[in-house]
Amino acid sequence: TGPALFGARVNSRGFDLTDAGHLAAIEAARAPFATQRFEAGPMIAGRPAGGLRVEVRNPATGDLVGHVVQAGAPDVETALRLAEPWAAAVPERAEVLRRVADLYEAEFGAIFALLAREAGKTLADAVAELREAVDFLRYYADGAAGLTAPARGVFACISPWNFPLAIFTGQIAAALAAGNAVLAKPAEQTPLIAGLAVGLMHKAGVPVTALQLLPGEGPVVGRMLTSDPRVGGVCFTGSTETALMIRRAMAAHLDPTAPLIAETGGLNAMLVDSTALPEQAVRDILASSFQSAGQRCSALRCLYVQEDVAETVLEMLSGAMDELALGDPWDLTTDVGPVIDAEAAGTIRDHVAAARAAGRVVKEMAAPVAGTFVGPAVIRVDGIAAMTREIFGPVLHVATFRADEIDRVVDAVNATGYGLTFGLHTRIDDRVQRIVERLRVGNTYVNRNQIGAVVGSQPFGGEGLSGTGPKAGGPDYLTRFTRAEVAQVAA
Ligand code: GLU
Repeated sequence: TGPALFGARVNSRGFDLTDAGHLAAIEAARAPFATQRFEAGPMIAGRPAGGLRVEVRNPATGDLVGHVVQAGAPDVETALRLAEPWAAAVPERAEVLRRVADLYEAEFGAIFALLAREAGKTLADAVAELREAVDFLRYYADGAAGLTAPARGVFACISPWNFPLAIFTGQIAAALAAGNAVLAKPAEQTPLIAGLAVGLMHKAGVPVTALQLLPGEGPVVGRMLTSDPRVGGVCFTGSTETALMIRRAMAAHLDPTAPLIAETGGLNAMLVDSTALPEQAVRDILASSFQSAGQRCSALRCLYVQEDVAETVLEMLSGAMDELALGDPWDLTTDVGPVIDAEAAGTIRDHVAAARAAGRVVKEMAAPVAGTFVGPAVIRVDGIAAMTREIFGPVLHVATFRADEIDRVVDAVNATGYGLTFGLHTRIDDRVQRIVERLRVGNTYVNRNQIGAVVGSQPFGGEGLSGTGPKAGGPDYLTRFTRAEVAQVAA
């Protein structure tokens, strides 16, 4: 049938969680995977390999989810040697990627089960994540038709645990759509969902030498992949600190033209002025701060609320927080699941404890004792300048401002050096204009929440310490996975 027309693509519809029929279908499809033990490991030119086999446990319950075999240095070496860029013509690559999308949609039961059990994802988050993964596959499949430049060769894709399916898939789909070979290193915390995804990609027809999986430790697998001259580019989502490390390794060892496509951290702010509708602002503050237990790089970290409405907004926020259900994400009523692991929980709890000792905690919810839960908290700060690093969890910092201080607030946000998302609640159009012009962030959202960018219509990515661009799910992304070459032959 040939490639679909660019622009004719529609995003996946996913599931409607207010529809009892959809919910019943999800529960039935998930049930067989409620206690199944999953296995994953390196897939090197289609063969399993590797050494150390380690347990993967459910962050909400501590239950065993399965095992992963870690790739060691010899496995990375073999994968590098056997990697072969995907030579098939564009329409065939696109067709295979669309088939992957169809397989993902068909396997929603296993996928939702693993997203809950391995990554602590609530059902709402899991549904959105599967939809985003499918959208990336179809969007880049369509986009491949517009590429004129050749692949770069071998791409290292290093992905995070907070979107273990969507970002894992998006990176790989882009690199493959452009014709590269991919060496994929999933986050240490979420190898099982990666193993499931790679199995489906191979089943759909991605050649086993074009996509190899290397689960393992960052200091082994990540370090080797980012310092080997056979690698022609790196796609990374994770912390700013790791991105800087990768950049240094690449500068020392890789071709100087090899791109680093990095999506990193943020210190994201929202400004709510006195013309905002408080009910709407509170709903959006709640989602931006606490959905996904605050484990999104787009999440709201520092709320600026105008002095004269601060008391009302914070009181309503506190009431709304009391309605949040914390618990095992397998339970369909759960709003906030665990954070990813004990180390993350420890860091976040220490941060809240320090604020508590300083008398700055204005709200803190109790958390379940078992599992790696952190109770959503609100901490008073003087301004974003007081926040020196991203706290990757359900913790909101709040500052107040007066109407004549808006430029100063925006300057303070810019001065953090990060530039990922910004939320703005106001009814004053000129103010929107002025703030947007002054701000240096990748994604600004007005009178809505600031998470959950949508493939194709809200390309996602930051600037400064938050990322290199181009934006994922946007029209410029794929070209970074190719070499810009022009060959002109005169008669
Ligand atoms: N794209 C996600 C969002 O818009 C965030 C991605 C991330 O956390 O890395 O919420």
